Amino acid sequence: MKPFTIRLNFFGDLVFFLGSRFRSQPIERRLSERTSIKDVIESCGVPHPEVDAILVNGQAVGFDHTLVSNVDVTVFPASNQDTLRTEKHLQVTEISRFVADGHLGTLTRNLRLLGFDVAFSSRADDRELLDIMARENRALLTRDRRLLMHSIVQHGYCPRSQIGDQQTIEVLRRFNLLGLITPFTRCLRCNGLLKDATKLEVIVDLEPLTKMSYDQFRRCPDCSQVYWAGSHFQKLEKTIERIQARLFDKRGD
Ligand SMILES: [Zn+2]
Repeated sequence: MKPFTIRLNFFGDLVFFLGSRFRSQPIERRLSERTSIKDVIESCGVPHPEVDAILVNGQAVGFDHTLVSNVDVTVFPASNQDTLRTEKHLQVTEISRFVADGHLGTLTRNLRLLGFDVAFSSRADDRELLDIMARENRALLTRDRRLLMHSIVQHGYCPRSQIGDQQTIEVLRRFNLLGLITPFTRCLRCNGLLKDATKLEVIVDLEPLTKMSYDQFRRCPDCSQVYWAGSHFQKLEKTIERIQARLFDKRGD
């Protein structure tokens, strides 16, 4: 087959994934055999779950599109809805169930705090993460872009920031979760859904001071953890306020 050239332009925050050798765009890839567009995009460092739309010479295509001749390719991120109005979106935003890798403890805790269903184990290996993702139809959250490139992954996101609160804001934006926040409904320890409990039901688990000071409780039916509006509660409330304030902050500008 006669060699041919693919010229790629990546928009929005997809630039985050391009290595230093691709600092200037368009990126040119020389090919000498039929190659799927998905493989060419991932060879530039961009995981496919981050890609929402692809144009080949101005025409929208899917990941299975095969490249056989010189073309210009434009690639758009999932979080950049204003950049492109096309019917052919490759990602969905309506996902509120996640599995997070072992490095994303703060993000997991924040998302649970806001009521979202996040499977997490600090000990889970890549295989287990992918199993949970597929079996329970969850989106994969990981900063391991190789893992995100695995062919089994349909939905996922790589937090750009290394800071938990910022990662939380990124995920809320990417999956359009702002209207779905239900704080203090989920166990921070195990992800269980909390149930109201009477003082009588939880009294054996309480310290004397807590017994005296609080009357409203919630309990996790899965791990028995008891929650009440103590000082830790106020700290969590502040975390929620901080995240919400930053979300609205950015939307306003
Ligand atoms: Zn629990």
